[in-house]
Amino acid sequence: MSQHLMNTYGRQPITFTHGEGAWLWSDKGEKYLDALAGVAVNGLGHAHPKLVKTLQTQVAKLIHVSNIYQIAEQATLGDKLAELSGMDKVFFCNSGCEANEAAIKLARLYGHNKGIENPEIIVMEKAFHGRTMATLSATGNRKTQAGFEPLVGGFIRVPFDDLEAVTQIAARKNNVVAVLVEPVQGEGGINIPHDGKAYLEGLRKVCDEHGWLLMLDEVQSGIGRTGTWFAFQHTGITPDVMTLAKGLGSGVPVGACVAKGVAAETFTPGKHGSTFGGNPLATAAGLATLNIIAEDKLRENAEAMGDLICDSLKTALEGVAGIVTIRHAGLMIGIELDRPCTELVKMALEEKLLINVTAEKVVRLLPPLIINAQEAKELVNRLAPLIKKFLNG
Ligand SMILES: *Cc1c(COP(=O)(O)O)cnc(C)c1O
Repeated sequence: MSQHLMNTYGRQPITFTHGEGAWLWSDKGEKYLDALAGVAVNGLGHAHPKLVKTLQTQVAKLIHVSNIYQIAEQATLGDKLAELSGMDKVFFCNSGCEANEAAIKLARLYGHNKGIENPEIIVMEKAFHGRTMATLSATGNRKTQAGFEPLVGGFIRVPFDDLEAVTQIAARKNNVVAVLVEPVQGEGGINIPHDGKAYLEGLRKVCDEHGWLLMLDEVQSGIGRTGTWFAFQHTGITPDVMTLAKGLGSGVPVGACVAKGVAAETFTPGKHGSTFGGNPLATAAGLATLNIIAEDKLRENAEAMGDLICDSLKTALEGVAGIVTIRHAGLMIGIELDRPCTELVKMALEEKLLINVTAEKVVRLLPPLIINAQEAKELVNRLAPLIKKFLNG
């Protein structure tokens, strides 16, 4: 391994050379079942033939031109995202943190436009919004922030899934401009509100009453992962702002900040930008991803496979001491144990299974949306005995 890479990741000692569907091959020729999908990025699995074809064609035509010009692929993807979300306008960037940066800037500008000079945004405990200065400040995890103080100000933190805490802030503050929340917290441990519909609808109501923007970070939960295009579509509401990235480009970097109504009219030329954002290659990848998800019925598959994996895990791990809960929203699956369990990642590697542990005690599965029933069962057959062994050992 190179001595010239900054020490930002604790990497597993494995190199993959190619993949197909839910499977990856190492340089030693060993075949792994991918239950992580590049952390919710490779929704179409690896080397999806339709995606490969689109990208090959696009690369040969045009990769980048600059947002100084009209970009047809970007315009079409913008239309498509507006249609699927019921929202109005899209700003394209290259990652999740950038999409959230755009949302945070948008909310502040929205506040200033209303004469609020010191706008504040309500954010959640255990939230994850990225690693740039503003987004790590919005993130609710001290480890992400430690060593990078002074943090960016203007955030008020409340517990996740606590509508009352948000309502109380409305009573004592008049400079709030937005609420930023993940419909399902990913990095925080696959935390699903106890009544997600009531929570988001409650937040919508508070925001409407006070002229705040409801901003949903769907960087992990969006693009079919929970069984709908966006997690908010399990409820009756539409947010003012939604951020996307991870699954949108199937691995080609593309992020999006989507807005509706007054939020969609907030930015004007000069207020925000991105050199690469929405370039022809990235937006062709986004467009192909959305088309393939629709054609191959991958939202339906995500819902069915999420249920299958979760039910099978519950059966296989029934009565095992040390399991706190097994929970999921589509193919965002969390198995919470009563103790730290990062060791399981290595144990799974030995069984040729790629998983992740987040929030120390939660085994996180984010399989590709294309996973089939046989692969889903194989996943459970490999994972359940490992968890048992770990808890009993
Ligand atoms: C991964 C993630 C981000 C950050 O995305 P990057 O592309 O790594 O900047 C932001 N929000 C959520 C919910 C995420 O899961």
